[in-house]
Amino acid sequence: MAKVKTTFFCQNCGTQYAKWLGQCTACKEWNTIVEEIVQKEEKSSWKNETSPAKRTSKPLLVNEIDTTQEVRLDTKDAEFNRVLGGGIVPGSLTLLGGEPGIGKSTLLLQISLKLPYKTLYVSGEESQKQIKMRAERIQPESKQCYILTETKTQNIFKQITAIEPDIVIIDSIQTLHTDYIESSAGSISQIRECTTELIKFAKETATPVILIGHITKDGHIAGPKILEHMVDTVLQFEGDRNHIYRILRSLKNRFGSTSELGIYEMQGSGLREVTNPSEILISKNDEELSGTAIAATLEGMRPLMIEIQALVSTAVYGTPQRSTTGYNAKRLNMLLAVLEKRAGFRLGAKDVFLNITGGISVDDPAIDLAVVAAILSSNEDIAIEKRICFAAEVGLAGEIRPVNRVDQRISEAEKLGFEMIFVSKHNKISLKNTGIQIKLVGKIEDVVSELFG
Ligand SMILES: [Zn+2]
Repeated sequence: MAKVKTTFFCQNCGTQYAKWLGQCTACKEWNTIVEEIVQKEEKSSWKNETSPAKRTSKPLLVNEIDTTQEVRLDTKDAEFNRVLGGGIVPGSLTLLGGEPGIGKSTLLLQISLKLPYKTLYVSGEESQKQIKMRAERIQPESKQCYILTETKTQNIFKQITAIEPDIVIIDSIQTLHTDYIESSAGSISQIRECTTELIKFAKETATPVILIGHITKDGHIAGPKILEHMVDTVLQFEGDRNHIYRILRSLKNRFGSTSELGIYEMQGSGLREVTNPSEILISKNDEELSGTAIAATLEGMRPLMIEIQALVSTAVYGTPQRSTTGYNAKRLNMLLAVLEKRAGFRLGAKDVFLNITGGISVDDPAIDLAVVAAILSSNEDIAIEKRICFAAEVGLAGEIRPVNRVDQRISEAEKLGFEMIFVSKHNKISLKNTGIQIKLVGKIEDVVSELFG
């Protein structure tokens, strides 16, 4: 019989301890350290003897290594491909995190059904019948997607050996358990061991594996931070459950950039790729309302037009309220102070509410000028014409500062039918013969007099 060994793990960050402690020394959380039974055996569920390795590694001279074509699996989902950096890398482990109910399973099931490869979708959360019902709503004609309801890694690998899939999807890592560890599914040691087995399998057979991981209330992938260190790519699926849009972003990517963003719209039949996000982020009412302004922002490499809404009203209960959604509250306070000091607007006794529509959050400083414009528009109760947009940062002295990749922002605005864009006069614009009027401004006062006379 194998020797039974116990260790202590912090359930928050995954740090291992030899004895119990009240506070984790790594993440400083209290009462997170729990004893787990770990049955030590020099074994892993994934044994490669039965399945021929698709790729064996041998040393190559540097100049013999072929870099001309990087093989990536096309997922047939443009948004997913972009966030991954151009498709799935063979043998890679990808973690898709997100809050429960946000649509992680829907996204991966949908991708599984579209994939032009033999796919094994392993679910520990839903029965085969339940998944079949969902699949029929999304993409009924898929022929290469196998569904398996299983939580034990030994049995999963048995099926993998039989089917030999090109890609494996696990929904979710928290439901898996391996026989070599005694503790319950979802515990740190189970998650760690199951992930190790999957990494071994992925690397030895060059089969990519995608894991779903649930996120706790405080935004961490449930259980261990350790999981994020083990995998090659960490994707996060987010969005307000009350909004119909979902945002896929990459938090870590060993094979590409982390600045790309994918946008989906949640529909009855699944998630629709949003290829032109600017159109959906701007509300389509024809009426011109005060308190809204459009900003030309960038998410990753992609220009994005977003709508900023502000509401300025006299504070009823003494202390004025300041509230923001999708925008940094400290930055809002700074801009209000600038408006007060440099442009003479008395906003100190006013409530100010600021909202970025579509439920997304933006930290691009280039939306400053649109924020300022929306606040002033609400304060003066004068609507800004729908044909106008903004792309500039606002400095502490009330100066309008240049922003990066301004040409790209201007082109996007022009493409979407805007007729005028406010940018800093210090921006170097190399665009020629644009159909959009470029308004160069240097100070906040210039913008105020242009907009409100
Ligand atoms: Zn900890």
